[in-house]
Amino acid sequence: MIKLPPLPFANNALEPHISAKTLDFHYGKHHNAYVTNLNKLIEGTDLEHRSLEEIITDTAGDATKAGIFNNAAQVFNHTFYWNSMSPNGGGRQPKGLLFGEIVRDFGSYEEFKEKFKTAGATQFGSGWAWLVVSGDKLEIIKTANADTPIAHGKTPLITMDVWEHAYYLDYQNRRPDYIDVFLDKLVNWDFAEAEYAKVKA
Ligand code: FE
Repeated sequence: MIKLPPLPFANNALEPHISAKTLDFHYGKHHNAYVTNLNKLIEGTDLEHRSLEEIITDTAGDATKAGIFNNAAQVFNHTFYWNSMSPNGGGRQPKGLLFGEIVRDFGSYEEFKEKFKTAGATQFGSGWAWLVVSGDKLEIIKTANADTPIAHGKTPLITMDVWEHAYYLDYQNRRPDYIDVFLDKLVNWDFAEAEYAKVKA
């Protein structure tokens, strides 16, 4: 049985950048529905008592379990997305080791931002943009639909949802504006730094 984790902030805490109405639908309806659907699909199966991460890695690439994979990955991706944002987010560069390795792997923080924006803007249709650790390097990747880096042996540090349900009520078709706001006002570098410290521990 997988539970819907609480939102790490109030539903209006990201206003004016992301409205309470968007979060009511996105968390309360979409994220919640992925949890409900997943639990229905795993009930009475050998996946019922596994962790979310185990369910994802056990079903990845198995066409007969695509429904389970898609719902499980969307539960994981959305929880990671809420943690990737903060009411006090943006406004600074990452610090410490993470900053050094962003410079090492992307050239500069500005180049990181441009590459991350491009990943989000060029993901055709629904999906996600990610900063991940792959081996001993940082990478920016995009994934389609429910796909998730943990199905590919990569460790996420930040994600941005670019499904239309993430931004349409607030930005309509202006996905690039939502992406700019994500990086300038919302991205939670405290979280990414803590996740990176776990990788390096
Ligand atoms: Fe979403």
